[in-house]
Order: sequence, then structure tokens, then C-alpha cells
Amino acid sequence: MTEKEVKKILTKCIAYLKTLPAGTKTSTYEILKDLGYDPEKLDLMDFHRSFYVEAREYDLVYVDPETRFSVAGLPYAIPFTVHNGTPVCPYCGSKHVASILYGMPATTEQLQRDLKAKKVVIGGCIVTDIDPWYHCNKCRKDF
Ligand SMILES: [Zn+2]
Repeated sequence: MTEKEVKKILTKCIAYLKTLPAGTKTSTYEILKDLGYDPEKLDLMDFHRSFYVEAREYDLVYVDPETRFSVAGLPYAIPFTVHNGTPVCPYCGSKHVASILYGMPATTEQLQRDLKAKKVVIGGCIVTDIDPWYHCNKCRKDF
């Protein structure tokens, strides 16, 4: 399969993800099957990585707290939850949630204000596929 074909599948998967209702539990593998692709024909590890990174950039998914700490099996088969819209803490249901900012963000006045308002918290510099995306300001858990 060419890089262009893979990119096309990726775009379709993202578009499909956007149509799924919030709270849907699925995985890269299941989405490929839903769309009629044969997951075995793809380099699944690579595909999952690109897909998941893009899905997170669009803020479409988060990893289930229960599965994040029991990562058994292959990443592309690990379920994640679709969310389109305001993140809600899966532990306590609070909407008072901060985005976790990774890397070494430039210190700006806007960032200082967001930090003070607890809209943003700073994560580490080392980023993995399954890092939490949000921090709950109420129960202090990450998800
Ligand atoms: Zn919470």
C-alpha cells in the first residue's frame, strides 16, 4: 500500500470518528473494520500512531482510565472513548477540567493567565501515545 493510500484511509477514519456520538468506545482496529478496510493489510502500529495523534489534535478521543493503566495487548486494539465537545471528567463527572500542556511551552502572559485560572496545567516533556490529555480540577485525576 502506498503512503498516499494510507493517508486517504487516515482521512476517512478521522471523518468517521467525527460522526460517532460522544461516549462511543472503539479502537483503531474496529474503526478500520467498520469502514470496510482489512486492518491486516496496513502497518497497524504506524497507522494507529498517525491516526491517534491526529484524533487527539482534533480533540476527538481520550483513552479510558481503566485501560490506560492496564495496557495489555497491541496499541491499535486498545479501546478509546470518543468525545466531541466539552471534556467531562470520567471519574467524577466534573466539567471543571484543564488541558494538559506538554513540552516546554513558551511563557506568555496568556499562558500565565490560563495557568492561574486552571484552564491549563503543565505536563512533562516526554510525550507518549497514552498520556492523559486533561486534568480534573475537582478530583485531581488525569484522563
Ligand atoms: Zn474529576
